[in-house]
Amino acid sequence: MTDGCGRTIRYLRLSVTDLCNYRCRYCMPEAGVEKRPHRDILSVEECVEIGRAAVRCGVKKIRLTGGEPLVRRGILDICRGLSAIDGLDELCLTTNGSLLPALAAPLRDAGVTRLNVSLDTLRPERFARITRVGSLSDVLAGLDAAERAGFSHLKCNVVLIGGFNDDEIEPLVGLTKDRPWEVRFIELMPMGQCANWDRERFLPAEEVLRRVPALRPCDPSGTAARYRVPGWAGTVGLIEPLSHRFCDRCDRIRVTADGRLKPCLHSAEELPLRGLHGAELEDAIRRGAARKPERHHLTDGGSETARDMNEIGG
Ligand code: SAM
Ligand code: SF4
Repeated sequence: MTDGCGRTIRYLRLSVTDLCNYRCRYCMPEAGVEKRPHRDILSVEECVEIGRAAVRCGVKKIRLTGGEPLVRRGILDICRGLSAIDGLDELCLTTNGSLLPALAAPLRDAGVTRLNVSLDTLRPERFARITRVGSLSDVLAGLDAAERAGFSHLKCNVVLIGGFNDDEIEPLVGLTKDRPWEVRFIELMPMGQCANWDRERFLPAEEVLRRVPALRPCDPSGTAARYRVPGWAGTVGLIEPLSHRFCDRCDRIRVTADGRLKPCLHSAEELPLRGLHGAELEDAIRRGAARKPERHHLTDGGSETARDMNEIGG
């Protein structure tokens, strides 16, 4: 499946809920989001049906996200259904990690191949402040549980926020010394909750290279520029949607928890998929992919989406 700019689309990010047990300040309103009736959210069967149709269209990798995918009832059934699809190479999941102590092993058994765990700070009091309600010790226990369950090459997502965690770049990179993890620094994108935050909060991810000059480039991976400290076990990724737009390499489409295909994270355009089956569903997915815009306009006009990140899935 290719889009109007000749990019091959291989990657679907499927949001399975817009609810979350955390309230990260850059992502969600303090009061959370109104719980919608079950009928407004994709059912387990619909998630799997959309996954199957996407794979028939050429998708090779699906990532489950949210909100927090691990608070979604039926998440293991969704994983089992998707991992059984012939032709799917990778089933990944992005999580805040807090529920991994109970769920890491069942997720592995249900066919999840990779986990990304969000970890913006290693300091408990900062963690509580940025997530409003979270506890760092739960996430650290979740990372341990994930490794024990066999997710050895974990990815940790760090959203870089000026004046909040930029003084922790060295210890966060230090996580890769003995562990084969990828610590990925993501530029904070001005949208939703943080659309109007002060400019000082938005740092270029290259700040990581300035703070840790020992980092050397190694193989790039998808949207991330990848580095490592020679001799260390893991790698460091820089995800730079603002300073080095990667739109020309973008191979992804997204589906929101209420079943709407978003050709681009930052565009307002959405195509409803619910109620479609078989060839009609495939056709809608192909049409959606074909409508991917050439680039986003975060730095020259701002994100055009009206949704908060918890509704789209990051
Ligand atoms: N709840 C899960 C989690 O936190 O990993 C999955 C959903 S969350 C929306 C996916 C990713 O988006 C997280 O790594 C989060 O830190 C990131 N994110 C949320 N808002 C963002 C923003 N404005 N700019 C950059 N990344 C953001
Ligand atoms: Fe929840 Fe993830 Fe958003 Fe934090 S970033 S509020 S954990 S969805």
